[in-house]
Amino acid sequence: MEMLIRRGFLWQSFEIYGGIAGFIDYGPLGNGLRRRIENIWREFFVIGERAVEIDCPTIGIEEVYIASGHATSFTDVAIECSECGKVYRADHYIKEKLGLEIDESVEAVKSVLEEFNLKCECGGKFKDPEKFNLMFETKIGPGKGKRGYLRPETAQGIFISFRRLSDYFRDKLPFGVAQIGRSYRNEISPRQGVIRLREFNQAELEYFVHPEEKTHPEFEKYKSKIVKLLDKNNVEHEISLKEAVEKDIIKNELIAYFIAKTEEFLLNLGIDKSKLRFRQHKDDERAHYACDCWDAEVLTNYGWIEIVGIADRGCYDLSKHSKHSGEDLTVFVPYKEPIKVKKKVIVPEMSKLGPIFKKKAKKVAEELKNIDPEKISGKIKIIVEGEELEVPDECYSIKEVEEMVHGEKIIPHVIEPSFGLDRITYAVLEHSFDKDFVDGEERKVLRLKRWVAPVQIAVLPLLSKEPFVGKAKEITLKLKKAGFFTEYDDSGSIGRRYRRYDEIGTPFCITIDHQTFEDNTVTIRDRDTTSQIRVKIDDLLIVLSQLLNSDKDIKEFGEIFRE
Ligand code: AMP
Repeated sequence: MEMLIRRGFLWQSFEIYGGIAGFIDYGPLGNGLRRRIENIWREFFVIGERAVEIDCPTIGIEEVYIASGHATSFTDVAIECSECGKVYRADHYIKEKLGLEIDESVEAVKSVLEEFNLKCECGGKFKDPEKFNLMFETKIGPGKGKRGYLRPETAQGIFISFRRLSDYFRDKLPFGVAQIGRSYRNEISPRQGVIRLREFNQAELEYFVHPEEKTHPEFEKYKSKIVKLLDKNNVEHEISLKEAVEKDIIKNELIAYFIAKTEEFLLNLGIDKSKLRFRQHKDDERAHYACDCWDAEVLTNYGWIEIVGIADRGCYDLSKHSKHSGEDLTVFVPYKEPIKVKKKVIVPEMSKLGPIFKKKAKKVAEELKNIDPEKISGKIKIIVEGEELEVPDECYSIKEVEEMVHGEKIIPHVIEPSFGLDRITYAVLEHSFDKDFVDGEERKVLRLKRWVAPVQIAVLPLLSKEPFVGKAKEITLKLKKAGFFTEYDDSGSIGRRYRRYDEIGTPFCITIDHQTFEDNTVTIRDRDTTSQIRVKIDDLLIVLSQLLNSDKDIKEFGEIFRE
């Protein structure tokens, strides 16, 4: 953390006013790193899928969160000290002080407080525990306004636009819709620094599927992959994804597919495989909308932390929004072959309807045809032109007919991989941080993957005078124009500058030295091995673009380009 703050990755927000827990600012390097992680996420989960990305408001109207259940269920239990007034999240405090995992209900918390006579850190007694809703409430517009909430997840914007999104995909399942953006949770007492934030960045994919087809065209590619799982009964498995699904440890192939893809993504960012596991939620731990849920967890200085949640949300969200808004959120799924079904229908008798309903008879007949005979009880009443009319029994008959049915309407299910970008960014930094010895001195080095580093290339004139400076600036401009994240630096000795760039994870330093002016070459120095190669300035772009997209040792490239 000391390095991250000093070098400009991140720091406490509102620092000059004393700061407040749960908010961080991304400095130039942290912002660059998170943006690169975001772009790689896009490559994996939008471009690499049948998926699109949308962008919705971060403020939602009350109706959305009443329907989704967040207004009532998105709560944690809080305990407040009656002496010092400090408030804690009950389950965290109980775990910290007693080592107990408890079910998150007011009753459970109350009984633990009593049984163990648990007191505040100041020695004070706690008041009765209370449920606390984690959504930030706001008011839209002046005066009484309209109640709104800052979104606690990006997902809801996708569900409420489902009709339009399904049209966009020509109603053809499966399809995915992604959203990357800010979410807000008024966490009770965020004490874990950068891990538990009140404003954070999510990247979520909602993958809509037919309820009976929870698989993925590319599952084949991953089925033999061995993953580390910790199931809901706390049993560890090192098992292939195929076997995990067959044994019903993972509920379906689609969740298994996203576990594999998530692992691939995280390893690509530089997460340490030996510090990564997938943990299934226990039955009493799952969110109110989920029917199976797996977290990708990584081991950090804060212990095991959740960085991704992969949930099977079933048809929960679409059903709720359909019910509350009155909008049809189904998809018509055609059968492979149409099927014949027998069905009862109402046949209007025009000769009877005419004399009774006169000019309205035609409309009455139309309305009658729309009624399901199975649902008739007593006299049929219909509304025509705002008037309620009772239809005598002799005005219609009920017949059985055979009909060709071409498909059915279903509410799709959704599988959601949800990524916390801040925690991922932090974990990448922690897993990349290393110390070694160079020239007998300890050096701090951030071994970021080359394609993730916020500064990929540092251009360093050996001496801070002409002609070194001019040449270095010319090369910097050329590299920036070619799209490389490049910095120019002429302050301090060359050794100190190398250390600075090692510490912020810059994979390559280019040095302009005396030989540059003899044969038009520069050196490229590799952060990890500290070895160097000489390359012609004319070859720089091609060498760097190959180096930055690979893990290969720089010496191999040196050989190729010498020939
Ligand atoms: P959830 O909807 O709770 O499964 O959260 C999805 C992801 O968002 C988690 O895996 C975390 O990485 C991230 N996340 C959730 N809450 C927070 C928070 N308070 N601060 C930072 N990241 C969070």
